[in-house]
Amino acid sequence: MNIILFGPQGSGKGTQARLLCDKFGFSYFESGAYLRKLADTHEEMKLIMNSGKLVPDEEFTSYLTAYLDQENLYDDIIFDGFPRTLEQYKFLKVWLNQKQVKINLAIVLEINEEETLKRLGARRLDPKTGKIYNLVTDLPPSDVDINTLVQRDDDKPEAIKKRLALYHERTETLIEGIKKDTNVFRVNGERSIEDIHNDLVGIVEEAKKYEQI
Ligand code: AMP
Repeated sequence: MNIILFGPQGSGKGTQARLLCDKFGFSYFESGAYLRKLADTHEEMKLIMNSGKLVPDEEFTSYLTAYLDQENLYDDIIFDGFPRTLEQYKFLKVWLNQKQVKINLAIVLEINEEETLKRLGARRLDPKTGKIYNLVTDLPPSDVDINTLVQRDDDKPEAIKKRLALYHERTETLIEGIKKDTNVFRVNGERSIEDIHNDLVGIVEEAKKYEQI
């Protein structure tokens, strides 16, 4: 079963995806983390990302498919951050179809803009491991020195505004488009991690029942 997890920046997609992976054994594909690693050696990509713009579709999808082919990974994936546009979704749909799988479920974690800005302002990256923490809601473990954590350039106010505008403009349109093919569940993301996780587990378990029919 493949799942797309949607939600504006800071909606807790990463946290919830990791919990679902632990529970159901899904693989997690986080486009932002994947691209940040690539950007270490691709200066132009780094500039695009730091400004809050999207990496061009063709460039991104060619890296993505090469990665999934290399990992032989086509099913039981949680996609986070991809697809982000209708074009990317159409591409993914055709590509997965060739592998005889599909997107089975889409889940949208909803939080309002004020909450997004608050959460992203407190978000920190561990440059050593690439892990993301939140100084308010998701502190690092005790063996990680908080002073070594940094704020991502694209979590700074100007870039955040651009990323949020892109999310609303493109991704919301995409979510509407996906409804034709796949069940889409909207979940209130402004609750405790545990409550949200319990809702998501219920949604996935229900979808798994239909998968077996
Ligand atoms: P994120 O951590 O998901 O907000 O992604 C960080 C940055 O990576 C975005 O602002 C984009 O520049 C780039 N990025 C992530 N996913 C995609 C995608 N699906 N298509 C194009 N660019 C992306």
